[in-house]
Amino acid sequence: MSEGLPEGRGVFCNRTLNLRAIKAIGYDMDYTLVDYHVEAWEQAAYERVRDRFVHRGWPVAHLKFDPDMVIRGLVVDTQLGNLVKANRFGFVKKATHGTRELTFEEGRTAYAREIVDLSEKRWVFLNTLFSLSEACLYVQLVDLLDEGKLEPDGPPINYNDLYELVRRAIDATHMEGELKAEIMADPGKFVVRDEEIALTLLDQKHAGKKLMLITNSEWFYTSAMMNYALEPYFAELKTSWRQLFDVVVVGARKPDFFKTRSPFFEVVTEDGLLRPVVTSLRPGAAYFGGSAGDVEKFLGLSGDEILYVGDHMWGDVHVTKSVLRWRTALILRELEQEVTALASFRDTERVLGALMAEKELLEAELSRTRLGLQRLAMGYGPKPAATREMLHPRVQSLRSRLLTLDAEIAPMAKAAGELANPRWGLLTRAGNDKSHLARQVERYADLYTSRVSNFLHVTPFEYLRSPRGSLPHDPSTPSGPPLDPALRTK
Ligand code: IMP
Ligand code: MG
Repeated sequence: MSEGLPEGRGVFCNRTLNLRAIKAIGYDMDYTLVDYHVEAWEQAAYERVRDRFVHRGWPVAHLKFDPDMVIRGLVVDTQLGNLVKANRFGFVKKATHGTRELTFEEGRTAYAREIVDLSEKRWVFLNTLFSLSEACLYVQLVDLLDEGKLEPDGPPINYNDLYELVRRAIDATHMEGELKAEIMADPGKFVVRDEEIALTLLDQKHAGKKLMLITNSEWFYTSAMMNYALEPYFAELKTSWRQLFDVVVVGARKPDFFKTRSPFFEVVTEDGLLRPVVTSLRPGAAYFGGSAGDVEKFLGLSGDEILYVGDHMWGDVHVTKSVLRWRTALILRELEQEVTALASFRDTERVLGALMAEKELLEAELSRTRLGLQRLAMGYGPKPAATREMLHPRVQSLRSRLLTLDAEIAPMAKAAGELANPRWGLLTRAGNDKSHLARQVERYADLYTSRVSNFLHVTPFEYLRSPRGSLPHDPSTPSGPPLDPALRTK
């Protein structure tokens, strides 16, 4: 980690990666090279989708985008109209039905026999920040469906039908020109500029890496966003984003771009006129469509020589890794907030850890004492040193101490579950374990970091090493000095 940068701006490494061995780096654009004010962008998308349903006659004009309602990495249960947070094994740890939080009992009843398996159509993973508007609207519509307010006179629709309607409306909204025109008309409202990205990319270019921009966005939007977000900083460095990239692909249709073969079209004019590519790609030209296979051929590179950096868990990272074995980096903007929240909780975490350790000791003693009583009562096994008269009060006192401890632990455990987002907690944790999102990050992203410019601080030459993996049977690390009694809450 480079000095002076906040902890949350590190480049975190799941699998060791020597940046010197990387010969080409591909970048996604939206929420990667070009960052957005999530609330503004998602609200604009949300309102356009909502208004499609207003035109359909649904009573939804009053609905408002709530940026805290959902977080990336949650999973929509399209069968039950729920939103769930699962741990790394797919067990549901928290759930809402529509916008209403399920109680522990309700959650257990709904999911005692279910495991979230993303290969089933029922479950929809929220892969990117673009998913927030979609999921927020869906859960709000589930409430209205339950109240019988959607399609009261038409054929009944279920939660899955409702999800499909929302999905189609989102697709249409992203694809039609009006939303993008709104963003382009006032980019300052939507785009978070990061001037360090220009130098980051220039360092990489001069270190001999081929650079690629591979985005699903159309040419007109890509060029407008790149010009607004980055061109002034490239101009200061006496270059331009068009000179920097060896390959520019718009309308890439990721993840299909990484999986299937499709022809390239060259973008021949600034307003996006296309011409089929008959020979091979030309350096510095911009293309539409195409496939990663042809890009590999053009570069004369493949697999682990190429690093792809993007924010979409499935489209940018999962498929790229599974199909092409490219090295991958996930941009997870929320990581900065996540790490800050974890840091602010560190003292409480220590107290909680100490109380849990005490609880484990007491529980173990209680179990042994109960077993002693059982053996005495049944008259078998080795004779305990203590008598029944001594063991009974010990059980009572252990139970009462455990109750007191639980009362101390409960509010802290609750606070731990509400870090960063009061409803869903941290992105990377679910209960005491890693979240489903964290599991996907470690499986498919070799690196993860909050923004592209964090690579400026690791330089194009760094050898990024993963930490040694830990397992439950590993000897535990020393627990440090005894807890300061002043840190105890009670
Ligand atoms: P990228 O992240 O640079 O590959 O580009 C993302 C593009 O996909 C943007 O133009 C988004 O508007 C668009 N997009 C994001 N989510 C959806 C969706 O659910 N349906 C269709 N297009 C989407
Ligand atoms: Mg993106």
